[in-house]
Parts: sequence; C-alpha cells; structure tokens
Amino acid sequence: MTTPERYLQHVLPTYGRFPLVPVRGFGCRLWDDAGKAYLDFCMGIAVCSLGHCHPRLVEAIRHQAGELMHVSNLYQNPLQAELAEEININHVRLPGKNFFSNSGAEANDGLIKAARRFGRKRPQADGAQRYEVVTFLQSFHGRTLGAMSATGQAKIHDGFDPLLPGFRYLPFNDIEALEAAVRPETAAILLEPIQGEGGVIVATPEFLRAVAELCRKHDLLLFFDEVQAGFGRCGDFMAWRMIAPEIQPDGISWAKGMGGGVPIGAFWLSDRAVDDDGTALSSLMGPGSHGSTYGGNPLVCAASLAVLKEIREKELHVNAILQEVRIRETVRSWNLPVITEIRGQGLLLGIGLNPDLIPTPEGKTPALVVVDQLMARGLLVPPAGPNTFRLLPPLNVTDAEVDEALGIIHDTLKELIS
Ligand SMILES: *Cc1c(COP(=O)(O)O)cnc(C)c1O
Repeated sequence: MTTPERYLQHVLPTYGRFPLVPVRGFGCRLWDDAGKAYLDFCMGIAVCSLGHCHPRLVEAIRHQAGELMHVSNLYQNPLQAELAEEININHVRLPGKNFFSNSGAEANDGLIKAARRFGRKRPQADGAQRYEVVTFLQSFHGRTLGAMSATGQAKIHDGFDPLLPGFRYLPFNDIEALEAAVRPETAAILLEPIQGEGGVIVATPEFLRAVAELCRKHDLLLFFDEVQAGFGRCGDFMAWRMIAPEIQPDGISWAKGMGGGVPIGAFWLSDRAVDDDGTALSSLMGPGSHGSTYGGNPLVCAASLAVLKEIREKELHVNAILQEVRIRETVRSWNLPVITEIRGQGLLLGIGLNPDLIPTPEGKTPALVVVDQLMARGLLVPPAGPNTFRLLPPLNVTDAEVDEALGIIHDTLKELIS
C-alpha cells in the first residue's frame, strides 16, 4: 500500500492533505519519498524556527533522549525550570510565571481558565462571577473545545454546537467597536497581535493601545496569543513589541516556533497584583488548578532551550527583519498586478493575490492554485485564507535561499497570469 492509500484506510480525513510525502529535511530543504528536493517556506507552519534538523537542536534531543526523556510533573525538572527562566528573563522580560503544555490550543485553554479564576477573584458589582473572554473575527486560537470556541471563525465551529459559553467576537482593528463591547461579565480580551491563519493581519499600534487602555479601564486581563508570531519570528522575541512595545500583557500563549519541531507550548501569567492585598495574577493558578502529563517534560524542554538560545545568541530575530526587507523590496520591484500587497511583520508574511487575475478551476481558491503551482516548481508555502499565501521560512534563512524562493514565486505568478 502507498502512503496515500494507508491514509484513506486508517487515518481520519480531517485534513485536506497535499499528495506530497516528505521524508527527510535539512535546513531550508525538504525531500519527498521520490527524492525530489523542495525549498521549504512552510516549515511545519512556522514551527521549525531553525530549519529542519538543525545540528544544535538534533544534538540537544539526542543527548536528552539518552539521559531522561520524561518525568512526572510530580517532581522537579531542572530543564523546565531553566526554560521558564530563559523565557522570563531573556524573552518576555516581565515578571511572571510559565505553564508548559503540548500545543497552542492547550496554551490558550490555560489562559481561558486563568480568565475565569480572575473573574471569580474580581467579580461583578453584584458579586456574580465574570467569565467572558472577548476575541476577534478571523482569529485562530486552536481546535480544542475551549480554543475553538475562542476562535472567531464560523467555519471552525461548523457542526460542533454547543460551543463553550463565554466568548464574543469583535471586528479586528476596529477601535470604535471596542468601547461598546465590554459587558459586566467580561473578564479578559484575547488577541493575536498578528493574526496568522486569518490571513496575516497586523494589529495597528492604535488598536493595540486602545485594547490595553480598555483593559485597564474595565479591570480586564489582556492576553496575547503569540502561538505563531512569538519567539523571534516577527523581528522581536515577542511580536507585540514590534507594534506597541510599552504594553505589558497579563498573559501570553506560545507553541509552534518555540520547540523547533517538538510538541511544546506554554502560557505565561504576569506576577502583577490583582487586588489591594498584592495577590499576584500568576498565583490564581495554584496547586491542583491545571496540569498536563507530558507538559514540559525533559525532552521537549531540552529542545526548546536549544531553540530559544540559538535564536537569542545568533540574533535570528534580527535576520527576520533583514529578510523581510529583502522580500518586500524584491516583490515591490516586480510591479506585478497579481500581487495586491504584502502584509505581516518579520518572517510572518502574507502575499495578497488579486483573485480576478488568477484562473481558478475546480472551485479552488486563488491561494490554493498558487500554492499548488509553487509546489510543482519546488517551493512549499502554506495558504492563509482564500487570497493569501504565507512565507514562513526558518529564522536563519539566508539571502540565497530567499532569492531562490522569490525567483520561483516570480516565474510562477508571471506564467499564471500570462
Ligand atoms: C496554530 C495556532 C494555534 C493552535 O496551535 P496548535 O498547536 O495547533 O494547537 C493557536 N493560535 C495561533 C495564533 C496559531 O497560529
């Protein structure tokens, strides 16, 4: 049986998979089962921050696999403690505490639970608990019942009623809609500083500041979902700092790029006081309030430490900015009407396509038509919404690799519209 046949027979058909069967990777390159090489600007959807099989990451995993892979969170794990310290001191640079999960959706579930604890600690005027988390249209927060309910996209909810109660979705980047949105039961606002899956939409500084001000005014928690944007991809260790660096969030979630390919996520809660007695927000998630058997085990923490230290020591977040500039300048110089705009920050970029200029057979979206063509020519990129494809190369991508990818994109688009 071939791999696609085995899938048909034995794997739930939840993904619309491309026929590609990758079996080996190194750096920016990926090889399929027939030995064909691809330039990979998908990188497991912004997961492989250092590229495939980076020697430092491979060595960290090899070493730790032979020392100790897993211990229960019943015990102390030096690598988990060190990773939390690395995140706090070098990346978030605000006083707070981390919880380690296995994915982004779980990290967001943790934030949602923290909002409810907070809403109990700081109830409504009549003593009723606050519980609502306001999120935004076109957001993506994950696929668990909690994270899916937080996600402001009908297609993600389809067929799964009833959703978890306690969410409301507002238009993104719409300051006017914010003011009227706070209700007595609202406890928190959760947003992606740069929406990824929804089409690569960057929050404006004015909008982010208005959200932060609203949270301050109404005693709401401010949560950033940095699952896709965090840890260097957008040009700073934390994406929101590229937009409005003075903002101090109450909670942050991460996953994707922090493990470079191993399943790890985390959420962070601020140590700031939430009452006059000085009770820290982070203390509201006390013993017994949350847990995960695998979460932050020695193997994944060793891997994540290697990734985060490599990003920091080699200043890969700076390379993300340099390569963004290179991409923007080159694409602008083409003057191709089929490209409407480039959105995003650092190496979380979305190339907007003019749907009227792209022939779309078989009811395919313009983005999928282009993604297919690029794949046939040896470049892997993920779509984002119907009219956008993303460029998510590793943070250590070189000038030559960027130029090669841009060459493929240029030739493909030129031919598509000719
Ligand atoms: C991918 C993503 C998630 C979900 O992460 P999983 O690891 O797939 O659960 C949540 N938020 C954002 C912004 C994402 O891009």
